[in-house]
Amino acid sequence: MEISALTRRKSSLKQDYKIRATHDDKKSNRFTIFVITILIFIAIASINNKSFFNQPSDLPAGVDKQLNKNKPESLQALSPNIILEEFPDSHLPLPLPEKKFEEIEFTIQSGDTLEVLFQRENLNIGDLALINNIPSAKKYIKFLRPNDMVIIEHAQGNILSLSRHLDIENTLFIEKTDGTFKASLIKREVQVRKKFGYGKIETSLFESAIANGLNENLIMNLAEILAWDIDFVFDIRINDDFYVLYEEIWQDDKFIANGKIIAVEFNNNGRTIQAINYTNRDGEANYFTPDGKSMRKAFVRAPLDFTRVSSNFNPNRKHPILNTIRAHRGVDYAAPKGTIIKASGDGKVIFKGVKSGYGNVIILQHGEDITTLYAHMSRFAASIKKGQRVKQNQTIGFVGSSGLATAPHLHYEYRIKGTHQNPRTVVLPQAAPIKKIFKEDFESKSKVLMDELRKFKETQIYSSVVMN
Ligand SMILES: [Zn+2]
Repeated sequence: MEISALTRRKSSLKQDYKIRATHDDKKSNRFTIFVITILIFIAIASINNKSFFNQPSDLPAGVDKQLNKNKPESLQALSPNIILEEFPDSHLPLPLPEKKFEEIEFTIQSGDTLEVLFQRENLNIGDLALINNIPSAKKYIKFLRPNDMVIIEHAQGNILSLSRHLDIENTLFIEKTDGTFKASLIKREVQVRKKFGYGKIETSLFESAIANGLNENLIMNLAEILAWDIDFVFDIRINDDFYVLYEEIWQDDKFIANGKIIAVEFNNNGRTIQAINYTNRDGEANYFTPDGKSMRKAFVRAPLDFTRVSSNFNPNRKHPILNTIRAHRGVDYAAPKGTIIKASGDGKVIFKGVKSGYGNVIILQHGEDITTLYAHMSRFAASIKKGQRVKQNQTIGFVGSSGLATAPHLHYEYRIKGTHQNPRTVVLPQAAPIKKIFKEDFESKSKVLMDELRKFKETQIYSSVVMN
């Protein structure tokens, strides 16, 4: 059975093709379960919305936030014991127990310190001084980050316990016992599970992923890894497919978040692009081709938030304003007004201002020979000044329709020694390959991962033959 009728989609992520899931099955009750699963994934994805652009090698930033919602059970269990000990042993009927302590949960706002919180809540500031003096706890409570959660139990302002989530696995727990505060770390271990995923493009990358039970977060990471090789606005074709080996983070049998992508193969319009995550002994994680070339290049292909873009590239298109056929010397990315425009590579701002047909335009110089140009902006990023250095993917402005443009779009040019090149096909300067000292280690790991991915691919091809 094909499920080409899927209509649940995030409109902002919609692109122009039709999808088909290839490894669904024939029973309608399974289809119902499948639909429910998709809805849950969409819900999770929208919670995670802000963490899409994290470095793929790290845990997503959403992980902390998600974890903060789940209070460690060990903390919940402690409170009643404290009360019980305070009741005298008596044969008389006990009075109704008064609530002897209170619990406060703080979510740290920017500028908050524990001092501020203690004053605001009328908590014993002397207790805070004692807590601040616990050597093992000092470094964990001195600096709080916005959105951190701190839970305090107190009796009339006197502190019984204070806990703070440090990261996905660790919570600092400070408790008053026998008149002194003691700190300990409560560990809730996470399990990293390896998963395989497959998707085939029939509408958009996102829809193909969701139809196959993968979440958008994973796809954003995948697109980020491949951003130097694939222009996700223009290069994606019907029947492109991908195989991905990735991590999922679980805790207490609950899915927490996606971890990093370990290996991926993307088959795009007749070419195959493969990437492997490699963390060297110095702890630096990067993506490489199976033979050790860096995936990272000096320029990304599409210098804007591609999830909001839909358009076509045609080198001999009719210019909408001048109404003449002319060799178009750049790429036009139609996108809603305000879409973020990023520097395609590290460089220096050599022009920022208005040029007649281009409207608001920025030109960046990269090394000796290369310049890139970004036109028709609605406005510039506030921080950008002429002469300033910018980093790859740094926001430089926002899509608009200033100059000769009928509709909001980014006009992007890439020139080598003043000569226009097609930014989509120009050969890009390579970043450094894998370091020699890590080469042997990399090659052995790369071989294992590519084998795993190949085996998955074989089962996937086999199962879609059987099921369709
Ligand atoms: Zn143009």
